[in-house]
Amino acid sequence: MFYSSQIELSKSAFRQNLRFLKKRFGPKVLFCSVIKGNAYGHGINVFVPMAEDSGVRHFAVFDADEALRAVKCRSQNSTVIVMGSIDDEQALEWAVENDVQFYVFDTERLHAGLQAARRVGRPARIHLEVETGLNRMGLEAEELDETIRVVKSNSKHLVIEGVSTHYAGAESIANYVRIQDQISRYREVCDRLVGEGVRIGLRHTACSAAALRYPETIMDMVRIGIAQYGFWPNKETEMDYYLRNQLAQSRPVPRTLRRVLRWSSRVMNIKTIPRGEFIGYGTSYLTTRRERIASVPVGYFHGFSRSLSNLGRVLVHGRRAPVVGLVNMNMMMVDVTHIPRVQKGDEVVIIGKQKKGHIDVASFSDLTRYLNYEVLVRLPSEIPRVIVQ
Ligand SMILES: *Cc1c(COP(=O)(O)O)cnc(C)c1O
Repeated sequence: MFYSSQIELSKSAFRQNLRFLKKRFGPKVLFCSVIKGNAYGHGINVFVPMAEDSGVRHFAVFDADEALRAVKCRSQNSTVIVMGSIDDEQALEWAVENDVQFYVFDTERLHAGLQAARRVGRPARIHLEVETGLNRMGLEAEELDETIRVVKSNSKHLVIEGVSTHYAGAESIANYVRIQDQISRYREVCDRLVGEGVRIGLRHTACSAAALRYPETIMDMVRIGIAQYGFWPNKETEMDYYLRNQLAQSRPVPRTLRRVLRWSSRVMNIKTIPRGEFIGYGTSYLTTRRERIASVPVGYFHGFSRSLSNLGRVLVHGRRAPVVGLVNMNMMMVDVTHIPRVQKGDEVVIIGKQKKGHIDVASFSDLTRYLNYEVLVRLPSEIPRVIVQ
């Protein structure tokens, strides 16, 4: 592998996150690992085997292509659920043949799934996604009659594995009332289905934020994305957890979530630049003294946002080195004047720990308009991922 940077995934961090989360959710709750967006940038191919090795047996993806990748790299016959796009007939047939489960969020998909099951001669394993107030996807109240009728008269071809919904922003208390309304609507729909004699399988509604903030949303299975990778959905959810559990003032800080990912590169070149010179393209950075400037072969092509120009930080020898000048397509320059004896080839950490220093994805989000989710999924799939203990 000749890539200019690499990503390490820490198995022990992932296992700690699983322990922490499972303890909160309770032993009976199924843990479904959400691996859309190339496992939030961690890399499906590397992440799925690591998760299986840690006991995870349910994975949720966005589309059929991600499902295909998950199926190819799983070794435990784990359940794969497509929560979003799986629209052509071929993809549906492939899903049915391989017992890949998929969401049904309108009656058109229901009929398409039924047809695919008939053609393949195996049942389609579906999850009914019901509309409760996110107003994005989900079966509307007026589609339920038809759904119930079709499901009941085709029980040989359609197996309902679960009934799901998704909340409209459980990470923010501002949405409290909306979430409560969604919870009650979800319960009404489930009651109605059960009342009509439909076997509804697993009830699952919670993403990370909902599962952490609204325990009543946990039910039979949780769909956990961001938290399993060691990130709180946002600062508010983290503070809410610490305050509720009276841990805000604790010393030492309790072990909760640990970042799984570490992204590093190496110093490519070093120059000493006299005072009063501009660094890189244009005039955005002027040296105010004699400065030692290291170039690092990571740029916006590699997912290091250009909006971190003159703002971002990396670690060299465990100390922070500020990005100076504009982030280029394939590299950036960092000021290492204050760090003695930096040499070509020294490790540079872009996300993660180095000695006593660490850089969080959250710090990117504070400096730019990107969410932690967005920073992660922008990590190109070409960067090699390796598992470390
Ligand atoms: C992305 C997603 C999740 C996981 O969300 P996190 O906030 O990362 O835990 C759960 N359910 C659905 C439908 C999703 O799209």
